[in-house]
Amino acid sequence: MRFFTIKKRTLIIALVIAIVFASIISISVISASAVPKAQYTIVIDAGHGGRDGGAVGRQTGVTESELNLKYALRLKELCADYGIDVIMTRSDMNGLYDESAPNKKKSEMERRKSIINSSGADIMISLHMNAFPLPSSNGAFVFYAKGSDEGYELAKSVQGSLCQSFDNAREYVSVGDYFVLNCASMPSVLVECGFLSNPQEESNLISDDYCQEFCYSLLAGILSYFKM
Ligand SMILES: [Zn+2]
Repeated sequence: MRFFTIKKRTLIIALVIAIVFASIISISVISASAVPKAQYTIVIDAGHGGRDGGAVGRQTGVTESELNLKYALRLKELCADYGIDVIMTRSDMNGLYDESAPNKKKSEMERRKSIINSSGADIMISLHMNAFPLPSSNGAFVFYAKGSDEGYELAKSVQGSLCQSFDNAREYVSVGDYFVLNCASMPSVLVECGFLSNPQEESNLISDDYCQEFCYSLLAGILSYFKM
């Protein structure tokens, strides 16, 4: 009888220890996925540059490449305020191509890809301005690479945030067959911030206040994706 009692007690103790260990393991597994990383790094890609100005504003002649850079630099500053490290594909108006390269487009693409994929960044966000023959076309679009589940999640976070601030932002995200999305080794989105072919939207896009609000909205989407 005594032997049985000791065995029973030992079994209970073993069971309690097992439950405690199982709880510790499950808590640590949950924590690993729920707690944000200590440090995030993102690549901000300002589209175009140099001799490739991209789309041009119908009213003011502003180039897409200068607005992309303006938005990229603004977003970089906002990210820094939140302790997010930023790697830029370009920080000035120069193109990414080698001036001596016979095929400047190819040279630019290789350079952009190299910066993005050697960054070790958690995500990449590429900024562009849109244009379309129909002047009434408007609103921000967010694209992700086909087959990228994490790119889709990032795109949904960014688009959801834009929709909260801008009535004409698209409520859906789309697959985009873009070089920067296809070449990137991390979850990535390409944001077409608005249409330079729409006179009202061009006025908005060149305004500092609009740039600030737009980039803050992009940041909110990024923070949401990181669960920060
Ligand atoms: Zn573009």
